[in-house]
Amino acid sequence: MVVPRFGEVATFMRLPIERDPAKLDIAIVGVPWDGGTTNRPGARHAPRQMREMSTLMRRVHHVSLVSPYELCRVGDHGDAPVNPIDLQDSLTRIEGFYRRLHAAGAVPLSAGGDHLVTLPILRAIAAAGPPLGLVHFDAHSDTSDSYFGGEKYTHGTPFRRAVEERLIDPKRIIQIGVRGSMYAADEKEWAASVGIRIVHIEEFFRRGADAVAAEAREIVGAGPTYVSFDVDGLDPVYAPGTGTPEVGGFSTAEAQHMIRALAGLDIVGGDVVEVSPPFDPSGNTALVGATMMFEILCVLAPAVHRRRHRLQRL
Ligand code: MN
Ligand code: MN
Repeated sequence: MVVPRFGEVATFMRLPIERDPAKLDIAIVGVPWDGGTTNRPGARHAPRQMREMSTLMRRVHHVSLVSPYELCRVGDHGDAPVNPIDLQDSLTRIEGFYRRLHAAGAVPLSAGGDHLVTLPILRAIAAAGPPLGLVHFDAHSDTSDSYFGGEKYTHGTPFRRAVEERLIDPKRIIQIGVRGSMYAADEKEWAASVGIRIVHIEEFFRRGADAVAAEAREIVGAGPTYVSFDVDGLDPVYAPGTGTPEVGGFSTAEAQHMIRALAGLDIVGGDVVEVSPPFDPSGNTALVGATMMFEILCVLAPAVHRRRHRLQRL
């Protein structure tokens, strides 16, 4: 509180920059890359604008009273290295960055980037252990096999690849908010066939955020779970700054409500992706994204804290 929130260099949540992952329990990372985008680009610019808007975040969650910086050492770990003109090289670089972080014992909370960045993150943090559960907020299932004549790596395919690579357990995946016109009527058949639970937006509105969040908790259970939040899951009135908007989504308040309901789960990382600042120069979508990062942080920090104390007791 020496410098007001609008002052100084804008880091995530006004946290110190810490390049050494061994000094962090939770590393907040930007991934300034949108090479997996199939339509409107711009998510490469999100980490910088989300840092700027995240300076509006204060220290304590107003409902849970969780104070993440008292539970864990949290810092801005900078941006993952990317190659803006080479997709596979970017995936390799991003994975390497997260592998170092994971090996040092830090848990990542990331700002994309388009949704393909979740794949190298999962490769880094899940390859050695059992497949993770996944709570996935999105207007899209992101389980397409390929795009445009066989391209296997786009922001529409990360969770298909992640299931194939056994990074996530399809029976412990729930996708919330899915909607929008499709390329083909059988587009989501594969997801259903492997056991992924898709909560289309119509069902979400019929049952409400409480019931859907309760089902999410049941599906992922007590095992390690990752949280991935695509801002296009929100209605574009709340988040117009995104590459593939779909009308008729859930609200920011409903999203906050659902993330808060994940408290107590064994969360091992999270991300907020697909903020595209060029489509919302007001910065509001980036503010929404930064706020969702804080919401995730306030359920992630207690999980990290619990794991550390469990280990200490052993
Ligand atoms: Mn997505
Ligand atoms: Mn999406």
